[in-house]
Amino acid sequence: MEQVVVVGAGLGGVRTVEFLRAEGFSGPITLIGDEPHEPYDRPPLSKQILAGTWSEQQALLHRGDFAQLDVSVHFGSSAIGVDRAAVYLDDGSQLPYHALVVATGVQPRRLPGQPDHRDLHVLHTLEDCRGLRDSMSRARSLLVIGAGFIGAEVAATACMAGLEVTMVEALPFPFARVLGEQMGQLCAQLQTDHGVTVRCGVPLVSFVDSDSGIAARLADGSTVQADCGIVGVGTVINDCWLAGLEVPTSGGLLCDTTGLVEGTDNVYAVGDIAAWRHPIIGDRPRIEHWTSATEQAGVVAQRLAGKPITRQADTTPYFWSDQYGLTLQLVGRCDLATSVEVLHDPGTVKGTVAGYFAGDNLVAVLAFHAPRLLNRYRRMLAAGASRHEVCSTAAELACR
Ligand SMILES: Cc1cc2nc3c(=O)[nH]c(=O)nc-3n(C[C@H](O)[C@H](O)[C@H](O)COP(=O)(O)OP(=O)(O)OC[C@H]3O[C@@H](n4cnc5c(N)ncnc54)[C@H](O)[C@@H]3O)c2cc1C
Repeated sequence: MEQVVVVGAGLGGVRTVEFLRAEGFSGPITLIGDEPHEPYDRPPLSKQILAGTWSEQQALLHRGDFAQLDVSVHFGSSAIGVDRAAVYLDDGSQLPYHALVVATGVQPRRLPGQPDHRDLHVLHTLEDCRGLRDSMSRARSLLVIGAGFIGAEVAATACMAGLEVTMVEALPFPFARVLGEQMGQLCAQLQTDHGVTVRCGVPLVSFVDSDSGIAARLADGSTVQADCGIVGVGTVINDCWLAGLEVPTSGGLLCDTTGLVEGTDNVYAVGDIAAWRHPIIGDRPRIEHWTSATEQAGVVAQRLAGKPITRQADTTPYFWSDQYGLTLQLVGRCDLATSVEVLHDPGTVKGTVAGYFAGDNLVAVLAFHAPRLLNRYRRMLAAGASRHEVCSTAAELACR
């Protein structure tokens, strides 16, 4: 039987081993993860666990014992090298494989000169979450550097816990490159409506020494200060152990439409590190969404189990974010859009829905807590609806 080695025991890695067994793969499977504990899910780290409404147990990814799945696990072990036949671990051992699944994800990008300060955090791991929660429990104010989804969710959680929050963003408005100006401004409004001070277009120049807490100098010469801080300025992929594969990694591991890393015949990639080829458009976006990691794991498992591939991954990526009791949902590819239209404007952030179009075609939909509408347009997106069809539907729904 073929030996499958899966490196990275986060969402993509754990779902891969689960799907492999569910698809009837009966050969030996090894799962390697550098974190010391049982695998856990990351979305609650900026939401329920940070807020203290969930225990850490509630975020576990795998209910039960990996031994019941007959999966051999090495937690607390780092892969430090690989070639086309084996993975090399930091304890000196080597694990031969017939098929390798790379699921080592990303880590937070750090700012140049970012100090190691007990009250300045990034947020990616359970330890990061514990550290941030501890700082927040002693703090009256929080500085959020970067208005992306992690920063926005932490700002919301902190604000609802009673902290005074300042958010600093280098771009002229939040999500400027992803959502466009009008929807980016709405994301800023969601924060300001709850009392967060949002300062956009002012890049952080440097951190400055402060007697207490965190202080940062901004490009306009001003200084912002808070008891604690979080830096949420994007990610870099965990590829430092992959040099021995001799494949390009700079834009993620380039894969075909079912996860095989191009230039190899037995290496697959899933999750945040993977850049799968889109079956129709042909490009290879790297998508850091929970749903994509899960879908990709299912496809790779079918392929490795020798089953017909009935699952799909990444054709219409889906992302959600919870802030202030609202769920923001984004389906599709905003990066392909040439224009944005507001489809539903109730006059509040809640209920706003926008369509993103490439020429005449709907390519993405963003909804601020409007799940029914989102589902309606999601079906239209899957059916390849035109601008005219989408706008007619919006007009018809508005009349009801
Ligand atoms: C705080 C937070 C909130 C999020 N919220 C949302 C959300 O609301 N909605 C959404 O769609 N997505 C969200 N995401 C994104 C989502 O969690 C990721 O897309 C998903 O976890 C990707 O899974 P993955 O398996 O690729 O990576 P991960 O889950 O990060 O797992 C990778 C694992 O590999 C390990 N690893 C790395 N290098 C090595 C090595 N050399 N050897 C061994 N192990 C290694 C890592 O430590 C990690 O445990 C959030 C992410 C974070 C951090």
